[in-house]
Amino acid sequence: MQVYFIGAGPGDPELITVKGQKIIKKADVIIYAGSLVNPDVLNVAQDGAEIHNSASMTLEEVLEIIESAVAEDKLVARVHTGDPSLYGAIQEQIDALVEKGIDFKIIPGVSSFLATAASLKREYTLPDVSQTMIVTRLEGRTSVPDKEKLHKLAQHNASMAIFLSVHMIEDVVKELAVEYPADTPIAVVQKASWPDEKKVIGTLETIAAKVKKAEIDKTAMIVVGDFLDTEYSRSKLYDKDFSHEYRTSKTGSQ
Ligand code: SAH
Repeated sequence: MQVYFIGAGPGDPELITVKGQKIIKKADVIIYAGSLVNPDVLNVAQDGAEIHNSASMTLEEVLEIIESAVAEDKLVARVHTGDPSLYGAIQEQIDALVEKGIDFKIIPGVSSFLATAASLKREYTLPDVSQTMIVTRLEGRTSVPDKEKLHKLAQHNASMAIFLSVHMIEDVVKELAVEYPADTPIAVVQKASWPDEKKVIGTLETIAAKVKKAEIDKTAMIVVGDFLDTEYSRSKLYDKDFSHEYRTSKTGSQ
């Protein structure tokens, strides 16, 4: 295998997978999404590695580099932020490589919405609060299908992670407030896992002002839902009255 798409993780260079880092160490050619990937992730690259920042490149230019590297029998690492399957514009690269008959593998990464939960020290799926995680964004230059408009998804009052939208925080709040109660907790984490991470927590009523005051206007995750601050039922997994595959009940009931 010569071409690897790699999820670089959310920022902290130790949050890339072992597998992803092994490929970066060996790669002859590295193409990374410079607008978001922490360049420190590439510190382990070999001295002679040819490194390209795709921030200023077109799809065709990226493909050209991959194609000529493969022709020269070189190992290529195409590095995306977080996990490449989310807002990574990876499908068009996959399809082009398939068409050209170039084989590749994808190594997943830690998405920023997961680093956000870690930073906030919260679980998205609390029993009796929400068992559903919605990953979405507000419409920008990329449109969002009508059935997935934020106020429609909000009907579920599920835990939600909203990417690519912090610069429109007022619009986000307006859409959410159609369905979530005004005192619903909401948090914004900028550059989760980076040394200069910032976070603010509030309610739908207070968050927009807090985000402005903290001067957060990009590279931030918005998460909303009662999972942030609520009473909940203890998980059945660790309940002494509940038995499962790996443990029998201490009290006999299921
Ligand atoms: N594939 C990436 C997302 C790329 S889209 C992933 O899985 O995380 C870029 C958006 O991701 C940003 O606008 C922001 O909403 C979010 N993002 C990326 N890195 C982040 C980080 N370290 N902290 C918070 N949000 C981040």
